[in-house]
Amino acid sequence: MIEVLNIKNSPLAENPVIAQMSLHNHEQVVFCNDNETGLKAIVAIHNTVLGPSLGGTRMWAYKNEMEALTDALRLSRGMTYKSAVAGLNLGGGKAVIIGDSKTQKNEALMRRFGKFINSLSGKYITAEDVGISTKDMEYIKMETDFVSGLPENMGGSGDPSPVTAYGVYLAMKASANEKWGNDSLAGKKVVVQGIGHVGESLVSYLVKDGAKVFINDINQERLAVVAKETGASVIDSGKLYDLDMDIYAPCALGATVNTDTLNRLKCSIICGSANNQLSDENIHGNMVIEKGILYAPDFVANAGGIINVYYELEGGYNRERALAHAEKIYQTTLNIFKTAKEQNIPTYMAANRLAEKRIADIGKIKLSF
Ligand code: NAD
Repeated sequence: MIEVLNIKNSPLAENPVIAQMSLHNHEQVVFCNDNETGLKAIVAIHNTVLGPSLGGTRMWAYKNEMEALTDALRLSRGMTYKSAVAGLNLGGGKAVIIGDSKTQKNEALMRRFGKFINSLSGKYITAEDVGISTKDMEYIKMETDFVSGLPENMGGSGDPSPVTAYGVYLAMKASANEKWGNDSLAGKKVVVQGIGHVGESLVSYLVKDGAKVFINDINQERLAVVAKETGASVIDSGKLYDLDMDIYAPCALGATVNTDTLNRLKCSIICGSANNQLSDENIHGNMVIEKGILYAPDFVANAGGIINVYYELEGGYNRERALAHAEKIYQTTLNIFKTAKEQNIPTYMAANRLAEKRIADIGKIKLSF
């Protein structure tokens, strides 16, 4: 009989990497180093039960290696849950390159990184994320086929943001249905924070539906352009959280749903594209309930992007297929609200459980031959 190692009482607990991996059951972490090019990268593979792990590469000037590792572990786990709930045959992974993307990138470094990805033989498939450009993807692609989310001129599926925005819009309609018994957004006051690739597209859907849309961004030029194009009103950052609104749509940064903002927010629904919207799931997942706010779990609402990439991997990409799959986000969101009510748990937890159940169910099938 094989004795199961209890990590807490083991000498391995001295090793912070293994201890961190065991916290959320990460399968594998690969450290990449190359003195010639200066490449220092970490690939975290959280779970591959449903399929190869997929997640973008982020280049960031992390303060130290532990910070980079923590980010890779957190983000890769998020990808597992997102793909599982979206019904995709993909696992969760993420890569981080430690360094300043403005000054430390070059062809040799990116191609060396591509070789490391290739050495994983498809267990991890990479894509673009913060600090990585289309040009970098070109270099990575020179060394490996395990890349996705490529621009159209490289034979890829192009910008996933319109599909992401469509999914967020549908999750918002499902939330409206749950809250008000009707999924119409006409006349609803919606604040979209961040009018970048996803936010701008979301605003178009909302305006078309007759919602009263308010937009906010730190980029004043874009704000003026989008306000003119769509007729949306502009709201200052200082006033945003105090505005009387029906729906708050965070489409810029994570962790904007926190104790400070929840003490100010006067909305019925939170539904947006940003990742990790709840600053601390354990605290703010319950706080939204106490405030009577319905929270559409971020990784459910914003799954359109990964759905888009999935259809590129399947081959013969066309946007209609991706959009048709993204349509399921409406029903998935409703199912999660139902589970949350039945089990008397926060919506984020219901979404997590749905992901965990699918992985466990498919895991059993995979073990059974
Ligand atoms: P983007 O960079 O195109 O847009 C982000 C916008 O937010 C920019 O206009 C920026 O100026 C603005 N912003 C930054 N800080 C702000 C602040 N403090 N207050 C207000 N505005 C601020 O990014 P995107 O592709 O539109 O993605 C938006 C969010 O959705 C991100 O959190 C991203 O991780 C997430 N997301 C995007 C996709 C996708 O398909 N693009 C998929 C899933 C999740």
